Amino acid sequence: MSTTTPMDALSLPFTTGGPKKLLIGGRWVDAASGKTFPSINPSTGTVITEVAEGDVEDVNRAVAAARAALGGPWRRMKPRHRQDLLWALADAIQANFEELRLLEALDMGSPIGRPRRTPGPAWEAGVLRYFAGTATKIQGETIPNSLPGSVFSYTVKEPVGVVASIVPWNRPISNAVWKIAPVLATGCTMVLKPAEEASLAALRIGELCTEIGLPDGVVNVVTGFGDVVGAALTEHGDVDKVAFTGSTAVGQRIIRASAGNLKRLSLELGGKSPDVVFADADLAKAVPGAAMGVFYNTGQVCCAGTRIYVERPVYDEFVEGVSAYAKKLRVGNSLDPRTQIGPLVSAKQLDRVTGYLDLGRAEGAQTTAGGRRLDTGELADGYFVEPTVFADVRDDMRVAREEIFGPVACVLPFDTIDEVVARSNDSDFGLSGGVWTRDVGKAHRLASELQAGTVWVNSFSLFDPAVPFGGYKTSGWGHEMGQQSLDEYLNVKAVWINTD
Ligand code: ADP
Repeated sequence: MSTTTPMDALSLPFTTGGPKKLLIGGRWVDAASGKTFPSINPSTGTVITEVAEGDVEDVNRAVAAARAALGGPWRRMKPRHRQDLLWALADAIQANFEELRLLEALDMGSPIGRPRRTPGPAWEAGVLRYFAGTATKIQGETIPNSLPGSVFSYTVKEPVGVVASIVPWNRPISNAVWKIAPVLATGCTMVLKPAEEASLAALRIGELCTEIGLPDGVVNVVTGFGDVVGAALTEHGDVDKVAFTGSTAVGQRIIRASAGNLKRLSLELGGKSPDVVFADADLAKAVPGAAMGVFYNTGQVCCAGTRIYVERPVYDEFVEGVSAYAKKLRVGNSLDPRTQIGPLVSAKQLDRVTGYLDLGRAEGAQTTAGGRRLDTGELADGYFVEPTVFADVRDDMRVAREEIFGPVACVLPFDTIDEVVARSNDSDFGLSGGVWTRDVGKAHRLASELQAGTVWVNSFSLFDPAVPFGGYKTSGWGHEMGQQSLDEYLNVKAVWINTD
């Protein structure tokens, strides 16, 4: 991967073969309107390729294809066969991972040289293999009842039906795979709507779905804008479930839009996660760990630990350490293998983040690292900002309360454990939290008292397909990954058999 140059990426057949189409019913088709929109490289502001701009008519076609597939051979396919298809897709993702990562880097700006979560095979292939294993383990129960006579009762779990999976742009490969895997494991069908900012990896994964022989219509991909394609999917009377990852504001809109036919919903929404550093922590680990808990993926991570509470005795040392760390991070073109921090995804996101940088200064936070857009030399036309540390932040500042979705760390001092628990929990969000300490008692106390779907101790942002991920409060409903996530895609049917 380190030998890859920008030229390799720009001559990828996938990006040079004309406008990208929609995948509907196993065929690649233009949008009904014939319209396309540009896919922009955020490192340079240049157009990579054009992508079909779907609208309501395309959504109707895709939902009809997904519904038809649900009644076709897919319905009769045995769990073992779905397992094999999941394995085949994992193999295809693995075999094409370098190309997928290039597409992700080009389209979304994630650095090509970014450290892998775990050594070895592609992480997303591992997610598919985990779900492959679950396909054969979806089972009901035989339940003793207390009725007179011989009445037998049991449950079966059935696919919920047609799923609209609406994903954001921050991790295009993972975003798509996290949604496809449970659909295939449970026997549902889907319409996948990638984010308009970064559609290419999802489209390539759509191609891989057809190449492995998934029946037509099981996975459909409709690109386009959220307020058109996303809205049409969430209002559609023939969609049974929406699986959404994105902002809390859009999540709330989806709840309202899906009321008509009471769609099942799973929502993985925003966050403003606390990361608590006690004075007894190993700062040599806590400083880089907390820093990358914010700056990883240019801060465009829903679970980023953006409120860093530091116990007063080590506050100055921590601020100094994390600021020095931020200043050393190498910001650059996502295709440069030396880049650690890529651009923000879009001009819109750049405006949003620089707006928060101005706001933090105006609110009185101390800028101890970064704080500016980078727009000189090679970075002139891209959407780059410096990794930024705001110190002496107060809880009531908007930069401490609102999700910025950029590389901006807020550092706040604290004095007691009761105080830091209360302040951590004083948020509408509840996605994740971090704790850095050598004291097992403090670790357990915070793990228990933080109101968050995930708590990491002496680490941040660890993920595994076997471990559920989901939010409390306005951070969402339901879980992704882990056994629990399957139930989001299944109906439970009770069957009574009178054998008298
Ligand atoms: P972000 O702030 O991360 O861009 P959004 O919540 O705006 O997150 O977008 C996440 C996904 O939701 C994208 O695919 C986007 O197109 C889609 N989306 C945006 N608005 C709507 C809407 N009104 N209904 C359904 N989906 C939407």
